[in-house]
Amino acid sequence: MIVYHLGETCDLEEVEEGKAYLGWVQGFAPFGIFVQLNDRIKGLVHKSNVKLQHRERDPIIVRVIKIRSNGNIDLEEITPTVYQTQSVIKKTSSVLLSDIGKRIGRTVLIEGEIAQVKQTSGPTIFTVVDESGTGNAAAFIEAGVRAYPEVELGDIVALTGEVMQRNNQLQIEVASMVVLEPEDATRVRERIDAALDKRAEPLDVPFLIESSVLEALRPQMRRVAREVRKAVMASRPIILRHHADADGICAAVAVEQAVTALIRESGGDFDAEYFLFKRSPSKAPFYEIEDITRDLDFALKDNVRYGQKMPMILLMDNGSTDEDIPSLKVTRIYDLPVMVVDHHHPDESVDEYLIAHVNPYHVGGDYGLTAGMLGAEIARLINPEVEDQIRHLPAIAGVGDRSEAPEHARYLALAAPEYSEDDCRDIALALDYEQFWLRFSDGREIVKDILNLGGDPVRHERLVSLLVEEANSAIEEQVEVVMPHVKSRMLPNGAHLFMLDVELFAHRFTFPPPGKTSGEVHDRLIREHPGEPVVTLGFGPDFAVLRSRGVMMNIPQMVRELRAEIVGGGVSGGGHLVVGSIKFVEGMRDAVLESLIQKIGEAPI
Ligand code: MN
Repeated sequence: MIVYHLGETCDLEEVEEGKAYLGWVQGFAPFGIFVQLNDRIKGLVHKSNVKLQHRERDPIIVRVIKIRSNGNIDLEEITPTVYQTQSVIKKTSSVLLSDIGKRIGRTVLIEGEIAQVKQTSGPTIFTVVDESGTGNAAAFIEAGVRAYPEVELGDIVALTGEVMQRNNQLQIEVASMVVLEPEDATRVRERIDAALDKRAEPLDVPFLIESSVLEALRPQMRRVAREVRKAVMASRPIILRHHADADGICAAVAVEQAVTALIRESGGDFDAEYFLFKRSPSKAPFYEIEDITRDLDFALKDNVRYGQKMPMILLMDNGSTDEDIPSLKVTRIYDLPVMVVDHHHPDESVDEYLIAHVNPYHVGGDYGLTAGMLGAEIARLINPEVEDQIRHLPAIAGVGDRSEAPEHARYLALAAPEYSEDDCRDIALALDYEQFWLRFSDGREIVKDILNLGGDPVRHERLVSLLVEEANSAIEEQVEVVMPHVKSRMLPNGAHLFMLDVELFAHRFTFPPPGKTSGEVHDRLIREHPGEPVVTLGFGPDFAVLRSRGVMMNIPQMVRELRAEIVGGGVSGGGHLVVGSIKFVEGMRDAVLESLIQKIGEAPI
């Protein structure tokens, strides 16, 4: 059975008929014993209901028989052999975390969910989330010793303590903390959830440009924004994985700007924007096993070491194809919610693993509405205040991904007063170049400077022009070396096929990498053959990259056919319909390439 222990601030409201309480003997009268349930509340055990001998101040367990209208409480003594005690905290006086700034130096009662438990070399820091915001509560027993070990991540607690201000941050110095019992916990949790749902609901801002495709995507975009906002409010870490190219970076940085500002607003730790938000570029245009393994490894360690919640994963400019499935299966085992914002041709198979999926192909749009455009609009739904900083990002993204969608022209026009199309092209190139050297790092601050979000426009300009100069000279050097080795062929369908071995005739392990090298060569070749269908095929020992103009290929389809037709070829890959990459085993290269060329030669012009 449960024996309740009334907290100091409780009064009659918290006393319930039929429940058992732990009190102490206050005094004796001819007709019975007076028992205090706390300093303020006293009741009477009639002598007929006294079971044991008592002295003053003896602890005693009593049951409330009746609370009279005049406030008198009739008690009976009980003597349970097995019982649990549970603290009762005054219900009505709880304060919202958003209001503690007005109560510095005073003791408050907070009801909320434990969102993080961090052991420092001094106190234990509990991050608490309630319906109004996030706050930190410090509890101390001994330096470096975990206070309230029974309180765990995700518990609903009631805590009291004094509000202090330390280094410009509010903190509650915990005097008492109890885990609420299921019934109360459910009540508080429902209250918090309902409030978070409401607060997480994005504002209905109009999009930056007119687009029927964007309008059709609005419900899913709102959904992504809502889930991101909710994660921030509940102190759930967010991992943002994105393709490591200019478009993917623009998408991710737009959301990064929105989220980090929201984290700063919502209170909590001063460095929360670093451990609650991680942006990671993916080399492959999909969520590789290597990526999820790394993400999961860090998440589990952070969960154990720093008492952090398990993260939500947002994939941008990747995540919507069959190739993502092996990693998505891992997320399911650990119950990690995953959302995708992509403009690659989606496979339906991914959707069972996702809680939201924004993709223009779902609503009759296509690749031209790029991830960077979607990302900037979603960022505004997450946090409309970032609009001024990020309004040029969709234009850069569109240039980076060579968008031909009507939306791209509108985003360019929007950016034009400050950033011309050439500026956008330079910034996109600078991003690609810098990301090559950053490899797996996000380069958060460098990338901000490249995108002119760093607050120093002069440095932005100097940095971009230096990076562009270096990138261009590296490209020029590479193309000059490669061009004499390009072999050409006329295909049966009348298309020019150009082939280059980027392994033997290009510099390796430097910028530009094979895919970009092939792209640069392709650009040169289409200029040399205006108006004619051109396919450029760059290949290495076990891979090929394809670029085309004027040939109606379906690369994912060709990959599927090659895989079936060439036994032991180990063919895989994909990409867009007319731009893609294919992997195979080295010993089967000639067979795979010949068969691939045959298919290209049959494609309609
Ligand atoms: Mn893209």
